[in-house]
Amino acid sequence: MATEIRYRLPQRRLLVTELPGPRSRALTARRRAAVAAGVGSSVPVYAADADGGVLVDVDGNSLIDLGSGIAVTGVGAGNPEVARAVSEQVGHFTHTCFMVAPYEGYVRVAEELAALTPGDHEKRSVLFNSGAEAVENAVKVARLATGRAAVVAFDHAYHGRTNLTMALTAKSMPYKAHFGPFAPEVYRMPMSYPYRDGPGLTGEQAARRVISRIEKQIGADSVAAIVLEPIQGEGGFIVPAPGFLPTLVDWARATGTVFVADEVQTGFARTGAWFASEHEGIVPDIVATAKGIAAGLPLSAITGRAELLDAVHPGGLGGTYGGNPVACAAALATVDFIRDHDLPARARRIESIALPLLRALAADVDAVGDVRGRGAMLAVELVRPGGREPDPELTAAVAARALEQGVIVLTCGTYGNVIRLAPPLVIGDDLLVEGLEVLEGAIRTLTGKGRP
Ligand SMILES: *Cc1c(COP(=O)(O)O)cnc(C)c1O
Repeated sequence: MATEIRYRLPQRRLLVTELPGPRSRALTARRRAAVAAGVGSSVPVYAADADGGVLVDVDGNSLIDLGSGIAVTGVGAGNPEVARAVSEQVGHFTHTCFMVAPYEGYVRVAEELAALTPGDHEKRSVLFNSGAEAVENAVKVARLATGRAAVVAFDHAYHGRTNLTMALTAKSMPYKAHFGPFAPEVYRMPMSYPYRDGPGLTGEQAARRVISRIEKQIGADSVAAIVLEPIQGEGGFIVPAPGFLPTLVDWARATGTVFVADEVQTGFARTGAWFASEHEGIVPDIVATAKGIAAGLPLSAITGRAELLDAVHPGGLGGTYGGNPVACAAALATVDFIRDHDLPARARRIESIALPLLRALAADVDAVGDVRGRGAMLAVELVRPGGREPDPELTAAVAARALEQGVIVLTCGTYGNVIRLAPPLVIGDDLLVEGLEVLEGAIRTLTGKGRP
């Protein structure tokens, strides 16, 4: 029986100023003079506090958070168990560097990752700071272990902003444009995208299309790794057709290619399972994790087959801050909280509440082209009525209108036309429904389809 979730802040939507309020506007003015323009923010309100399903801004507005800092604060941004674990660790030491003087927290996180990630084979982990760093290291390991160079990535992929992960990422603007040259030996393959592929293409056929291109264009024995998000995040919350993932994993196993599942966004209960790979029963060779792992403290990991990870010479992997003891304490508290409160079940409940509402909306509003996702990773793809042409302007307007009414929703997608819902898993049912109704109202108002 899952323990009850208790909140410190009132779980309510309350607007006491216009948005952004005067304090947020003053901070925006200071920011313009001090923070580089290249760093964007989804909403122009500044956070003062956050807990459960709400974010309170510096003007005292209480907003419903349907984004959790890009699927990071699944356990809540003000989680008391995480706060306690972090304070306890900070009261002792904040850093020794695991490569200088190791500590138990790092080892325990690696033990948890071995137990939680798919597959019962022998596993090893390395900890880093960011998702990009994890993906980049997965590629390093795969190249060294296989002695091959080529890396396969997919349309709509997002893997980060470092040089190698920019090369793996599909979308030019804003992630890559003018930041090249990019790392070589990255080959892009077509993704399975059921809404845009149409019903004619099965997951297995979509995978065969990829495999044929790999064999013709790269050569099966030249591929070090296939890097794939089991459900794509920034690219549009794209759930590949059933069979796509298992067919690629089988091919990878048969050809000695390392299958890397980038579970940076999908991991840690977000999709209704600990890892999205589980929905199709695939066992990746390496799993990259970050976002949901430590409630926002910077931590990431790769976890993979012992023979792959242990192939690397001592000193070949690491980093000054990787597996910082405070971040490890946060991760251990996060994992305990997810387990004690059965947050995978909570994510499935969020799906069971949100999907019917969104599907009913899609049936009534032409501009809602597709509704998809798993668990608390759900998306609405907005298109021009009568076809599938993306409508990024409507999407931006919907997000802006939801915000005006006190609900934070994020957008994503290669075409910028996807509203993504990634609420904290600890959000209460009532607040979730209220947030969804505001979103529905925004879509209906902007498309001229009032409530029936
Ligand atoms: C966010 C994300 C990354 C990059 O993580 P950072 O911590 O921002 O470097 C990589 N892969 C996926 C799937 C992501 O969602």
